[in-house]
Amino acid sequence: MSDCVFCEIVAGRVRAFRVLEDECAVAFLDIRPAAPGHTLVVPRVHARDIWDISDDSHAGVASLTRRVALLLKDVFEPDGVNVRLNSGAAAGQDVFHFHAHVIPRRHDDGLRLTWSSPLAPVAELEQAMRRITERRE
Ligand code: AMP
Ligand code: ZN
Repeated sequence: MSDCVFCEIVAGRVRAFRVLEDECAVAFLDIRPAAPGHTLVVPRVHARDIWDISDDSHAGVASLTRRVALLLKDVFEPDGVNVRLNSGAAAGQDVFHFHAHVIPRRHDDGLRLTWSSPLAPVAELEQAMRRITERRE
């Protein structure tokens, strides 16, 4: 028995409504859906977050996420879809087993998952770019 609920779901020891699965990842309905069809896609191998997951496992989650998005489009005929990854408590992560949220959207659904920040001054973007470039090279 793991103390990670998503590992327990992957192993079939905790009930979940499984939407799709393959050798790398499992997709199941979120029990607190932001919209009908809201699905989580998790790797079979435990990884905490975007920084912890392997490239292969991440690629597997991305591939199943796209299949889920296509399936949900067929079923719910949404106007759009959000694919969302939260890593770290500050970003809203509550369950520390990497997962992608796939959330079907409607024009008038009232969900607030976007932002409308003002245009940044170029100097601010340049400063961020300097910090990134220093570390990249
Ligand atoms: P996050 O806040 O990104 O960590 O998202 C965690 C999500 O997992 C939330 O939307 C929860 O509703 C969902 N969740 C937690 N436990 C379960 C569970 N046993 N089965 C399905 N979804 C779950
Ligand atoms: Zn886990």
